Amino acid sequence: MVPGSSPGGTTSKIKASQRCGAFLFNILALTLRSNQQKPKKMKSVCCRDLGNDCDFTVSGEIDEVMDAVARHAKEFHKIDVTPEVAEAVKGVMKDV
Ligand SMILES: [Zn+2]
Repeated sequence: MVPGSSPGGTTSKIKASQRCGAFLFNILALTLRSNQQKPKKMKSVCCRDLGNDCDFTVSGEIDEVMDAVARHAKEFHKIDVTPEVAEAVKGVMKDV
C-alpha cells in the first residue's frame, strides 16, 4: 500500500474505501478483544456423574475440562467424545 501514486479523483475513492476497511477491522479487533477479556468461569466434572463407576474429577476452564474429560474417557473408558457425549459432559458440569 503506497499512497499518492494514482492521480486526483481516483485516489480519494481508494482512500475512502481503505478508511472504511480499517474501520471495520478496528470493530472486529475490538470485538475479539472484549471476548478475550470476558472472565472465564471455572467448571468441574465428575466422571461418576456421567454414569461411570469412577472417581475421576477434573476442574478448570471449560476448554481444559472438556480436553481432560475427552482424554480420560478415551484412555480409561475407551469412549470417544462425540458431540452427544460432549453435550452430556456439559450437562453434568458444575460451576466451581
Ligand atoms: Zn472415568
